[in-house]
Amino acid sequence: MVNKSLSILYSCILVFFVCGHLEAINSRPLVIILLGAPASGKGTQAAFLKEKLQIPALSTGELLRENRNNKTKLGLEAEQYIDKGQLVPDEMILGMLFERLNEKDTQKGYILDGFPRTLGQAEAYSAKVGSSVELLVINIDAPDSLLFERIKGRAQKEQRSDDTPAILEERLKNYRLQTAPLVEYYRSQHLLYQINGAEDAAKISSQIMAIIQDKQRALASSSP
Ligand code: ADP
Repeated sequence: MVNKSLSILYSCILVFFVCGHLEAINSRPLVIILLGAPASGKGTQAAFLKEKLQIPALSTGELLRENRNNKTKLGLEAEQYIDKGQLVPDEMILGMLFERLNEKDTQKGYILDGFPRTLGQAEAYSAKVGSSVELLVINIDAPDSLLFERIKGRAQKEQRSDDTPAILEERLKNYRLQTAPLVEYYRSQHLLYQINGAEDAAKISSQIMAIIQDKQRALASSSP
């Protein structure tokens, strides 16, 4: 009787450890980076993925706007760059984002919308997370003519101080110069997926979900 109870206890302990181990392998959080020019649709897809996957969507643009509205030191320093259509310096962005990543809700994965935007940010992020996350990078590609058209519509609705044609021109120029090289950076690491941003939002969402599901299947079949 005692022997039987002991063997049941040992079996339970064994199952507990094996499951715990598998869980540890499978639970490397998925981080989805959305790359794309201003108005390419990153924000729309981030909101969709947040709902669908039940993970937070972190937008550095939004975090900056919150800081700005709350008149924090960071917000006040950042606004001079934002309103010129320039990128906010890497150290400011990295400090702000890494602090947000310390919050518990990011443990099961998250979406990055508008980060990284420079090679320096991408490298600093990589150095911070190492191999603790599973990265998937989606580049939403759209022609400038479409981006301008969308910004015109958005400017009327949202009244963002940086959504004017002149500032958009500058944002696009800086995007091409500073952010577009990240496409090659992630492609060379075999992490990049391309999406045509001229398609409608629902079609893009289902294409992104198909990429994520493929990735999850590949991860499940490669873990021991
Ligand atoms: P959009 O993608 O339409 O340009 P965002 O809300 O992502 O809009 O960004 C607004 C502005 O905030 C940018 O033009 C830039 O000045 C600043 N910003 C946001 N994210 C970053 C970042 N990762 N690095 C530097 N600046 C950023």
